[in-house]
Amino acid sequence: MRRAWFVCEGCGEEHPAVELYRCPACSGELNLRYDSAALRRRGAFAAHWKENGSLWRRFASLLLQEDEAQIMSLEEGSTPLVCSDKLAARFGVNALHFKLESCNPIGSFKDRQVSVGMSKARELGHTRFGTASSGNVAASPCPPTPRVPAPAPTCGSRAASPRPSASRSRSTAPSDS
Ligand SMILES: [Zn+2]
Repeated sequence: MRRAWFVCEGCGEEHPAVELYRCPACSGELNLRYDSAALRRRGAFAAHWKENGSLWRRFASLLLQEDEAQIMSLEEGSTPLVCSDKLAARFGVNALHFKLESCNPIGSFKDRQVSVGMSKARELGHTRFGTASSGNVAASPCPPTPRVPAPAPTCGSRAASPRPSASRSRSTAPSDS
């Protein structure tokens, strides 16, 4: 049973979720689709998504990683969710929450996609990585502490500076900022 597959934005053709970057039929962009009914039947996503921990623990049932030994992670994810009473009052809503993605290992929400992408690439046998970004996508593959497993990735650009790590604990405590 297939867990996920690509659907072409251009022609609507479906393709297996393998190493494809464009639709082989029309070069259209590919979007990933999941068998959500099968996901519900298995129950793994419902059982783990509320857990505190890296995206690899919480969302494993959605990720297409087959070989866990190739996962390259600095425990991305589980960034704090804080609420701002002042801004909630200003906008006239009961509560306003902010997800602090700057608490990811390299300070960006891009850390999540880089961990997933590099891990899958390693599984597919790739050992060198590059980015076309001069921002936080470029910084994320090159953390001060390399993601495991070794060898560390080869990077093409590193324009953005990593930020010091902040508290990784999940919090819903009110915040005035
Ligand atoms: Zn197509």
